[in-house]
Order: sequence, then structure tokens, then C-alpha cells
Amino acid sequence: MIGFGYDVHQLADGETLTLGGVTIPHERGTVAHSDGDVLLHAVCDAILGAAGMGDIGEHFPDSDPAYLGVDSTELLRSVCRMIGESGYALVNIDATLVLEQPRISAHKAAMRNNIAEVCTLAPQRVSIKATTSEQLGFVGAGQGVQAHAVCLIEKIVVEGGAVNETVAAAAGEAASAREDKQINPDADTTERKKKAKKKRDKSRDKKPSDRKRKSKKSKSGKDSGRSGKSDKGKKT
Ligand SMILES: [Zn+2]
Repeated sequence: MIGFGYDVHQLADGETLTLGGVTIPHERGTVAHSDGDVLLHAVCDAILGAAGMGDIGEHFPDSDPAYLGVDSTELLRSVCRMIGESGYALVNIDATLVLEQPRISAHKAAMRNNIAEVCTLAPQRVSIKATTSEQLGFVGAGQGVQAHAVCLIEKIVVEGGAVNETVAAAAGEAASAREDKQINPDADTTERKKKAKKKRDKSRDKKPSDRKRKSKKSKSGKDSGRSGKSDKGKKT
């Protein structure tokens, strides 16, 4: 089954820019309740979409303090675990980042390896592309960054109890990639955890009105009663 994910985040001075689990030195970063990793959020939504399991805002609402400054690689890990528990495995992921600045070509391999490691895929089954918006629109003006992602998932066990061949091939490639040490699972994890903590500390100093702006979209009203969960934050 195919899934599609899309995310956008505003860029602002003094924020951290983390894309695909890689923290990129830049004077501007994403505004978000989480670490604002627009690429990982789009990938999470693609995977959840493929499995018919809703979206990232339903599972990790931005109104929940537990996700303040959260490392989005942990959200992706949870999403992969969730589809695994439903009997699905990832086959491949293809994603495109759209941003004007900075150039991210030097970081694409690290992003790919991070995502591959978290999703237990071989790196060649994860594709990260990047483009600019040709100076058009809000992305072109440097006000935001977008990410689009598609993925394919398949049932691990097919009829008759046999393991799906495509899934088995993907798992085999991932295992041999790990053996070849092409993947560095611990890449800059400590650094990212430090940044998340810094963000949480920083947010405590902020004015309540400032926090509120970040956790917008929590609707109230009659349709938030019975199925309130799906109305919670959509801007993770
Ligand atoms: Zn997001």
C-alpha cells in the first residue's frame, strides 16, 4: 500500500534547523512544538497514511507537553513500531525537501542513513531529494520549509502464512547494510538530545501567549467531544 505525507514549518531566526534527524548549522530554524523536523514528520505521515492509521498530529498532539522539543526520530521509531504491530513492513521511502536556504546536499547522506536506521531499511531504499522554490511563494521568500514523502508498505505475512517476498528482500538488504557498517545508528543522538533539552528549558522562560501561538489548532466545540483525539494538534 502507498502512503503520502506532507508537512510545512515556519522558519524563524534563532531556532534550530533539524532535517531528517540532522541538525544543520543555520541562522534560521523551524518553529514547532517538537524539534520541527519537517522531513521526518512528512515521512511519519506517509507511513501512517499507507497503513490507514491517521496522522502524526493524532498520535503525538502538540498540545501534549510530553512532545515539547521531542526528537522526531523517536516519533518515527514509534510509527514504524506501530505499523509493525499491525503486520506491515516498509518497502521504501522517497521524500523531497523544499527550501531556499541553506543548501542541504552535504547532509542528504546522513539524513538517509538516519531514516534507514530508524526504519530498519537498507539506505538504498530511502531516497532524500531537495529542491528550492525558485524564490516563489513563502518557501521562496525563506519564510518556511516544506517536505513531501511517499512510501510503500506491505503485509509481512501473506495468505497461506508465507512471508511476503518483497518485505523479506527489504529486511535482508537492511541486515546486510548493518553488517557492512554502512549505518551509524548512534549518529549525533546525544547532540540532538541536548538540543531538545535546551529547547524545553528555553520554552519555560517564554510568555504564555508565546506558547499558545505554538499550540494553536486545538479546536473546541461540538465536534471535539466524541472524537476529540483527532482534533488535537496538527502541527507537530
Ligand atoms: Zn511538522
